[in-house]
Amino acid sequence: MPHVIDHRGGVWSIAVPIPDNPLGHTLVHLLATDRGPVLIDTGWDDPDSWDSLTAGLEACGTAVTDLHGVLVTHHHPDHHGLSARVREASGAWIAMHAADAAVVRRTREAEPGSWLSYLIDKLTAAGAPEDHLAPLYAARAEGRTSALPENRPALPDREIVPGELLDLAGRRLRAIWTPGHTPGHVCLHLEEAHPAAHPGNGRLFSGDHLLPGISPHVGLYEDPDETLHADPSPSSRLRSSRGDPIGDYLDSLERIGRLGAAEVLPAHQHAFTGAAERVTELLAHHEERLSGLRALLRTERTPWQLAEAMEWNRPWERIPYGSRTIALSEAEAHLRRLVKRGLAEPVPGSDPVAYVAV
Ligand SMILES: [Zn+2]
Ligand SMILES: [Zn+2]
Repeated sequence: MPHVIDHRGGVWSIAVPIPDNPLGHTLVHLLATDRGPVLIDTGWDDPDSWDSLTAGLEACGTAVTDLHGVLVTHHHPDHHGLSARVREASGAWIAMHAADAAVVRRTREAEPGSWLSYLIDKLTAAGAPEDHLAPLYAARAEGRTSALPENRPALPDREIVPGELLDLAGRRLRAIWTPGHTPGHVCLHLEEAHPAAHPGNGRLFSGDHLLPGISPHVGLYEDPDETLHADPSPSSRLRSSRGDPIGDYLDSLERIGRLGAAEVLPAHQHAFTGAAERVTELLAHHEERLSGLRALLRTERTPWQLAEAMEWNRPWERIPYGSRTIALSEAEAHLRRLVKRGLAEPVPGSDPVAYVAV
């Protein structure tokens, strides 16, 4: 993949490497405005990634010190990781949707011990086996903090307000709230004619929401505070109204499909046309996955047992420790959706709570 691509019309992409990750790169986008260049996402916080970003900016004819602002599609470290360093080097503002800004604030304020306790409670309630919990107990006993989800990400200075045009001199860029992958994920719609006159309605910076070849991870939205202070019974937690990320994601996908964008500029893989077709494909994929899971629930299963039985990109035994926790979160999000649709329900009296199709 070329390091820098000129997408014309004052839009470039810079491939910024993600260390030790099969995704390979984050495509950071650069948008020229009348008040200076603006970045969409920044990349992973790592010295090589930083060098790649700054070299890429120079190849586009600018420099990191010239940046005027940073728009963050969502709080994940492969998107928001270098934002603090960019702000420090340039004085640029950082903008993010309020729901993801809240996640950043919680992450910064969370005490390592309370995060670990939250994780242990959550995994226990989902039926995780002792060997999966043991490293967390050990970390808590030793006061280790390595289970923190990420280091101190930058607090944004500005809010991205859904539906509004962003305050960018000389450009028409509208924020579209697309919750699902994270609670405050946004896509950014450049409402300007396509420079190569591709038919359709402008270009869409889609972040992780719409990718050409992969379906983004959708798990439960994490909120340690809420779980620690709320009713701790597992069944009430899974049935609580604190979100239906899969439902949000599918709604957001439909909304994006209706835009009719001429071209999609995603944050991984490559730019593509045919947004509506890709949306249809993903909607069908998720319908299929949900009915597959419902079939698995003809047998009562805890969320952990469901995760073990689901189809992943490799056999369960070969999924590394951290990815199993993420897979579990995805299984729980799907359970939430099935329960909300009245297609599954908790088995009365089961502990940890098991689910069964209805
Ligand atoms: Zn992401
Ligand atoms: Zn990503």
